[in-house]
Amino acid sequence: MSKKVLIVGGVAGGASTAARLRRLDENAEIIMFERGEFISFANCGLPYYVGGAIVNRKSLFVQTPQSMKKRFNLDVRIHSEVVKIFPSEKKVEVRSIQKGENYFETYDYLVLSPGAQPVLPDIKGLNLPNVFSVRNVPDSDAIKQFIDAHKPATAVIIGGGFIGMEMADVLHQCGVKTTVVEAADRIMNLWLDGEMATTVQQYINKKGIELVLNDKVAVLEGSSGVERAVLESGREISAEIVILGTGVKPEVWLAEDAGLVIGSTGGIHVDEYLRTSNEFIYAVGDAIEVKNMITDKYELMFLAGPANRQGRLAADNIAGRPSKYSGSQGTAIIKIIDMTVAVTGANGKSLSNSGIPFLACHIHPASHAAYYPGGTQMSIKLFFTPDEGKILGAQIVGFDGVDKRIDVFATAVRAGMTVFDLTELELAYAPPFSSAKDPVNMAGYVASNILLKDIEVVYWKDVPALVSGGAFLLDVRMPSEVEAGAVNGSVNIPVDDLRNRIEEIPKDKVILVYCQVGLRSYISNRILKQKGFIVKNISGGYKSFQSQK
Ligand code: FAD
Repeated sequence: MSKKVLIVGGVAGGASTAARLRRLDENAEIIMFERGEFISFANCGLPYYVGGAIVNRKSLFVQTPQSMKKRFNLDVRIHSEVVKIFPSEKKVEVRSIQKGENYFETYDYLVLSPGAQPVLPDIKGLNLPNVFSVRNVPDSDAIKQFIDAHKPATAVIIGGGFIGMEMADVLHQCGVKTTVVEAADRIMNLWLDGEMATTVQQYINKKGIELVLNDKVAVLEGSSGVERAVLESGREISAEIVILGTGVKPEVWLAEDAGLVIGSTGGIHVDEYLRTSNEFIYAVGDAIEVKNMITDKYELMFLAGPANRQGRLAADNIAGRPSKYSGSQGTAIIKIIDMTVAVTGANGKSLSNSGIPFLACHIHPASHAAYYPGGTQMSIKLFFTPDEGKILGAQIVGFDGVDKRIDVFATAVRAGMTVFDLTELELAYAPPFSSAKDPVNMAGYVASNILLKDIEVVYWKDVPALVSGGAFLLDVRMPSEVEAGAVNGSVNIPVDDLRNRIEEIPKDKVILVYCQVGLRSYISNRILKQKGFIVKNISGGYKSFQSQK
């Protein structure tokens, strides 16, 4: 007998489930319910549509109900909200929004992919007409229409997470004077470590987007619309448009009402087969909690790639091909003006919170051979275990070539590779694209040097205490670089003079060495270590020092 499968939500996870299921089972009856007007739209493309990079609105719609019917023989019902699940009777109640009628539909299997909804902060004035969230096509249409009609001169973005920063970029590119207000001490604080975020913040400030950190919007004031945001600190910022980037939360009311187990993270709890606490109900996408494959803890992960993969696996399981979801690692990337920020795996905060011992190294390589025009510098932070050097995560901030490097690190994390494996990767090289030692190889070499004890590494945050304890701070850059800025109290001996001026370096003190990005200090470390000094390298050099708070 053919199976009857109902799917709630017709975008990333829902549409993937439906299409995969049809590819595996030509006879199944598949009905996909979508509350909104659109299915399978490109939510990730919405900011680019508002900003004008995507000109043709139609290109946001990857599929339509008609195209899904034609190709996959799916019964797609838009404007149809599933309002209640009756697990014991294996049926749902559906509200046809346009007709204003409710009806019931039975199932053999039910798949929930209702996504996530914006978190609305408790701010007075949030209901004024020029305050927008960005979840779907109607939201984006509304923002675009408002900008076109009213040409706002100023914008306040509440929240400096991924969507907040994407929208800040969009408004800035539209010529709007944009201010991002973030309650935490840095933007993208769930993803980026402090020094990496600082690099992004310095760039954004330079480009004219204002960042207000450690402060919150208390009230949105204005008569017929918001005119200004008043912060908790008392500061007032002109705001002719306000965008909420205050995060999202899993939309779980339907699952909760049906008595399905909701995890402590607030997401629907599923097993490794993506089955909820009811064996006939699966759940995927933003609405579920997933195991973080590095920390082994349940987390919420609002990303399109995992949602698509989970949809595929849920379909496999329903079709009788048992398939496990092996966990998420949180690979994400964002463009802010011309900068690219990308992460994969764990970060310093999540590793510390999980009690996982780790080491980190910083490098600042060029995107391609320095002698070939157009190269730019990127900053990489790599996390690895202190014993075997297993890669735990990476963060990259830069311009050119960040995307391909993060994907190599993401693959390395997934494959359980070590930093030593990174040195062996044979990556594509010609001068316009990379260097003979790709930044990924370089990160591997630097991390391997630490593990092999060829160098000992310290981080800038620890340097003041070490210097107070008597350490000697050695700057091995050229005097011209030092003139442009150096760390207070450091002594400058360029690397090439080190052997001739060795007597200027105390043998009875710990020597902390830095250069601009870490390469010359590494060479200096090797010279000094072999000459009997107690020497440590400061990770990331002066470039990382400039990213300290
Ligand atoms: P969704 O794709 O949100 O789909 C859920 C659908 O279910 C919605 O259309 C909703 O209307 C419908 N629904 C909910 N409840 C019901 C119900 N009871 N009955 C019927 N229908 C219902 N991720 C990335 O990896 N990279 C990016 O660059 C990126 N950019 C993004 C930009 C924006 C502006 C947004 C909003 C998200 C972005 N994401 C990005 C996140 C990504 O879009 C989500 O992780 C992904 O879409 C989640 O898929 P989902 O199926 O769980 O939920």
